[in-house]
Amino acid sequence: DLSDIAHPVAVGLLAGGAAGLSRACGLDDDTFAHDGQITKRPIRALTLSALAPRPGERLWDLGAGSGSVSVEWCLAAPSATSTAVEARADRMLNITQNATDFGLAHRLSAVEGKAIDRLDDLPTPNAVFIGGGASDALLTAVWERIPQGTRLVGNAVTLETEMLFTNWHADKGGSLMRVELAEAEPLGRMRGWARARPVVQWSVTR
Ligand code: SAH
Repeated sequence: DLSDIAHPVAVGLLAGGAAGLSRACGLDDDTFAHDGQITKRPIRALTLSALAPRPGERLWDLGAGSGSVSVEWCLAAPSATSTAVEARADRMLNITQNATDFGLAHRLSAVEGKAIDRLDDLPTPNAVFIGGGASDALLTAVWERIPQGTRLVGNAVTLETEMLFTNWHADKGGSLMRVELAEAEPLGRMRGWARARPVVQWSVTR
């Protein structure tokens, strides 16, 4: 599969910059078409680490936004595939744009709709990422459908989703991690730390 080998040079996104795309997960946010709703680079790197893509595996990327997690999943392992489910039509366009730009149109498919309504249409996954639309009903529906051994990772930024994951962690186990990041930004003529919202990440193997 040529696109697996050629993507760093074929993408052409870094013309005039470095020789190609980094092979590490956690590409710059602006490598992707997005509208601001994107899992930020450091959190995305941790997310891909937890999702742990392997050759030929399939991801469900539920609440896919720009599809950046799907793209990095596909780039990380030969022949890995992803189905990105996204409720908003405008974001569907970003997903298909990114799939095309990264030469992944044959491995990354986008499905429009509410995740819970589309699960029955999706081929069995090896891993599931919940980046948006998490609810008790969605987790229950996913859990019922995934085979034993499937990895499930969810990122929460709201108290409500954090509570949901905290409860599921108590019931199903896995690991619950809170990530607090700060980045330096201008503060008057000096610099100061600007904190990002904490992200709570639940990851578990079914
Ligand atoms: N991981 C993404 C960002 C996700 S933001 C990225 O890196 O780009 C969360 C997304 O979930 C939003 O685009 C929102 O429209 C979508 N969403 C929210 N509820 C949803 C649902 N029930 N089904 C599908 N998508 C949903």
